[in-house]
Amino acid sequence: MEYPIWIGGEPVYTAQRKKIELPYDGALIGEVCQADAATVDAAVAAAHRAARVMREMPLAERASILRRVHQAVVERKEALAHILSSESGKPIREARLELDRAAQTLLFSAEEAHRVCGEVVPADAAPAGKGRWAMTLREPLGVIAAITPFNFPLNLSVHKIGPAIAAGNAVVHKPASATPMIALELARIFHECGLPAGAFNVIPGPGGAIGDLLVQDPRVAMVTFTGSPEVGLRIRSLAGMKRVTLELGSNSAVIVAEDADLEETVPRCITGAFANSGQVCISVQRIYVQEQVAAEFVERMVEGARALKIGHPHDAETQISSLITVQEAERVESWIAEAVQAGARLLTGGARRRATLEPAVLTDVPPTVKISCQEAFGPLVAINPYRTLEEAIAMVNDSVYGLQASIFTRDLRKAFQAAREVQVGGFLINEAPSYRLDQMPYGGVKLSGTGREGPRYAIQEMTECKLVLWR
Ligand code: NAP
Repeated sequence: MEYPIWIGGEPVYTAQRKKIELPYDGALIGEVCQADAATVDAAVAAAHRAARVMREMPLAERASILRRVHQAVVERKEALAHILSSESGKPIREARLELDRAAQTLLFSAEEAHRVCGEVVPADAAPAGKGRWAMTLREPLGVIAAITPFNFPLNLSVHKIGPAIAAGNAVVHKPASATPMIALELARIFHECGLPAGAFNVIPGPGGAIGDLLVQDPRVAMVTFTGSPEVGLRIRSLAGMKRVTLELGSNSAVIVAEDADLEETVPRCITGAFANSGQVCISVQRIYVQEQVAAEFVERMVEGARALKIGHPHDAETQISSLITVQEAERVESWIAEAVQAGARLLTGGARRRATLEPAVLTDVPPTVKISCQEAFGPLVAINPYRTLEEAIAMVNDSVYGLQASIFTRDLRKAFQAAREVQVGGFLINEAPSYRLDQMPYGGVKLSGTGREGPRYAIQEMTECKLVLWR
């Protein structure tokens, strides 16, 4: 299938094409036109024109377009899930879950469109304010550049586009080069559902070549980026005075106290570590388990990892499929080898066939190796014992990242001590850190990013607060 670029409500064909392959076996699934400097310029120009239309569009109309898109996504769920699974390589059951979540994110965005408003400022609270009225307005920013990664190519895009439209902005979206097809499908759906031409443009193409152009264009008011810290830092350094939201990586940690209910804890840690083959920004990568229950916990984790069904992503039974590329799988394999060389014990998994890696469980992992201190983004989990809660919290915090973390315990005192002391954007109790509801505020501290998503919070980031005072 051939996919043109989408600019100004129309398909645009370019000579440069990229073949999209199913990562599991390399089967050809589509061919996508690639943007160059001229198409980036055309997309930003179209968005700049449409931003004026979007700014004037009543909230009720923005909400009703988003509701129609929600409905269309629900109705086309199976076809869209198939495309999503094919280009990302994620198991079809996970692609369906992503479709459900994207539909919800659209609905939350539609609802939040009704609530884009400022507040009354009590002017006469200051003696000099006597006889004045003051209020704030939330105004759209204009053109928003949305740059997204490959691992949740639909829902993470919708987390930017939904709130941007609700807030009255126009969008230029650069999807990941590996997963552009679902973004182009979404652009057509928005168009069919009545979004004005130019309010949502999609420009697939190599980030290294077109990313800088988009980020530095003076007509772009905000860059909202989800991806790696390396690219996020570059965007921030180039964005100047533009508003920037960065949703970056992590090496999420879990504390398992000796009083945790292991029946409940282990399945959540298995899903948390191995969903989407660990290619999740909040994937469970490090587990610190209190020494009294460490042996039993590790045994159950190994059992859980071995029970996962590995296979073709389109097979309904498959739980683990390939990583996004063979090179990525080789990288994760080499990181496991480095840990083992440094003294870690590999208890199960780690074998690779093409881009697919068996889920790996390691123990006694030194804190200095890559799988401890960098983001693995692969199907592995490193488990180490701890003695005191203070020691566990210190190990969780010994990270350059801070997206989400969690604790499993029956003791409220321990749970809230950890909630207060762990340095993250989100802390969960008796749930894996990979858990996310699409309406909740989501984002990181430290190298995990700045700003928050979740439609209500993203709308705050995507609007300007303007004060109006009347004497
Ligand atoms: P990536 O390599 O950083 O790419 C993300 C996006 O940035 C892609 O669209 C990429 O385009 C583009 N890009 C690359 N170079 C660019 C440049 N110089 N200027 C502008 N854009 C550029 O990340 P990824 O490998 O796709 O995704 C994995 C990363 O995303 C992980 O670190 C993960 O933790 C993070 N992530 C974070 C969250 C969160 O919410 N915090 C969620 C999901 C993923 P190309 O594909 O063309 O290179």
